[in-house]
Amino acid sequence: MNVTGTIVNYYFHCKRQCWLFANRINLEDNSEDVRIGKVLHELKSEGKKNTEVAIDNIKIDKINDMYLTEVKKSDSDLNAVKWQTLFYLKILKEKGVDRKGKIEVIEKRTTDKKIHYIELDEDREKEMEKLTIEIENFINTENPPEATLIKGCKKCAYYEYCFL
Ligand code: SF4
Repeated sequence: MNVTGTIVNYYFHCKRQCWLFANRINLEDNSEDVRIGKVLHELKSEGKKNTEVAIDNIKIDKINDMYLTEVKKSDSDLNAVKWQTLFYLKILKEKGVDRKGKIEVIEKRTTDKKIHYIELDEDREKEMEKLTIEIENFINTENPPEATLIKGCKKCAYYEYCFL
């Protein structure tokens, strides 16, 4: 299957999760192309300055004239989210939509919001290209890596599959 933002995120978070998801071991929502199509459609709609859209299985993402915004409940794996956001920025850029990235982290039980900005500069674009090939090769390997307990395993959809 094609690399998607979720797959990029999982590649950084847990390679086994990435492989399992990419190889559709547990059918989660893989319809990212449809969602990216929806973003483009929303952008073309007149009079929408800050449209709420769904890309990936994250409920609230936004796009406006300047930013594509990812909203997360935690910044426990910010690096994974950064690469996921860069992936979306690159896909949009390839479709002629140039935006900067913004990651809003709204922690549970608080109204505090942390904002992280990220841009797809030339270097990151090249890195993203290499990374996409690396991930494609990885998800096409025959077997997933062994399960290793990490922070976040208990909230992972594959927890039972990996450990029980
Ligand atoms: S349960 Fe843990 S080891 Fe298994 S896929 Fe999820 S994050 Fe990875």
